[in-house]
Amino acid sequence: MIASDAPALITCPIIGGFPSNNPNHPRTLGDIVRHGIEAAGAGAAALHIHARTHDGEVTQDAAAYSEIRDAIREQAPDVILNFTTGGSVGMSEDERLGSLPAGPELGSLDCGTMNFGDAVFTNTPQFIERTAREMHERGIKPEIECFDAGMVMAGTRLVREGLVDDPPLFQLVLGVQGGAPARVDTLVHLVTLLPPGAIWAAAAIGPPHFPLMAAALAMGGHIRSGMEDVAYVARGEFATSNAQLVTRAASLCEAIGRPVATPAQARELLGL
Ligand code: ZN
Repeated sequence: MIASDAPALITCPIIGGFPSNNPNHPRTLGDIVRHGIEAAGAGAAALHIHARTHDGEVTQDAAAYSEIRDAIREQAPDVILNFTTGGSVGMSEDERLGSLPAGPELGSLDCGTMNFGDAVFTNTPQFIERTAREMHERGIKPEIECFDAGMVMAGTRLVREGLVDDPPLFQLVLGVQGGAPARVDTLVHLVTLLPPGAIWAAAAIGPPHFPLMAAALAMGGHIRSGMEDVAYVARGEFATSNAQLVTRAASLCEAIGRPVATPAQARELLGL
């Protein structure tokens, strides 16, 4: 594992499938669009999105995703769009895949079942394979999302089975209650399990968010920062926008000598 000075891809997860304690968290479809355009302007090459309706209802409806896609594209035509298939707790499998017909370039693909805080996040082997096949048929690159070591192995299996085009993209999300802890040694362990040639990013949920980001950057990884993952931009200070979190992430990249990847550089990196 070598220290890197290559461009770093920043993904901004604008809004999660769970409620946030941050009063500034986006709520409606219009909020998602506005936050997304601002985050792209602050340096996010990719936006990870869970849709909401104009009334703020959680939805996986392709029509809502298409509306968000078109509205963001109007003002940020280059940004890479990544739509969730994780959805939120209690959604059926069919419902969760509703985002894919809206045609994002990337889609998140959760690679195992886990306790997620007080809930159970169910991803059966059959659903994982179904999601991978549907993305492959639609030409959507999976962002293989892993919350623990077993999920890295499950994602690697999809790569071996030829369901993921080169280079595979892994997102290592640490610090969820029920998943791997947000520790540097845990991150190193997960990275050593990745298949050769994999592109990877990491994010810590909650307070070790920025320290773990620094570790991921030093290890040659890419990063993710946004209001799905973290409520605070500094101790005791709620983030006022996704762009504010992306700005802090971008300044960390610059401080350690990794330029922030443009959407064009990110597309080249990911083979999109
Ligand atoms: Zn998400």
